[in-house]
Amino acid sequence: MSKLPNSERVYIGMGSNLADPAEQLRSALKALAQLPQSHLAGVSSFYVSDSLLPGQPRYTNAVAALDTSLAPLALLDALQGIELGQGRERHEHWGPRTLDLDILLFGERLIDEPRLKVPHYHMQARPFVLYPLAELVPGLHLPDGRVLSQLLDACPFEGLERLPAQA
Ligand code: ATP
Ligand code: CA
Ligand code: CA
Repeated sequence: MSKLPNSERVYIGMGSNLADPAEQLRSALKALAQLPQSHLAGVSSFYVSDSLLPGQPRYTNAVAALDTSLAPLALLDALQGIELGQGRERHEHWGPRTLDLDILLFGERLIDEPRLKVPHYHMQARPFVLYPLAELVPGLHLPDGRVLSQLLDACPFEGLERLPAQA
């Protein structure tokens, strides 16, 4: 019997470029594992890449798979709580950050609310999202009909460095 009735599979994009980014991601994974009504089902390798904006430290990114029966906005609140708990400050748009947690996909849902758009609006343009996601679920079909393998074909791996598996 499932411990999580009515749970849905959520994919969360994780990123950091301040204050020991890999350690930030490891802390965030511990926090995700402790969310109520949720089970951390998997995590990709960590990937390092240059910032898209000049003058910022390099980013470390990963994707986590979470099974949850939290509602989407409740999960967003929880993720923003984890970001704040790890010292996230918002100064400029796309500024450097200790931790960013984006909801990439939430089950089969298409969500268009002021605070939450799912699938994440920019995932198709971001190799540091698509390649870790493909590690977890290579044959993924998105709820809007797109196919992950086709998004990968249009988004070169260029500039990404996959780190060895985490201990
Ligand atoms: P980007 O959204 O381009 O990746 P960012 O992650 O730096 O940029 P934030 O400052 O972290 O942007 O988030 C801005 C707002 O985006 C959040 O307050 C949140 O309400 C909203 N948002 C909309 N859709 C999502 C989503 N799928 N996951 C997380 N936040 C989202
Ligand atoms: Ca983001
Ligand atoms: Ca974000």
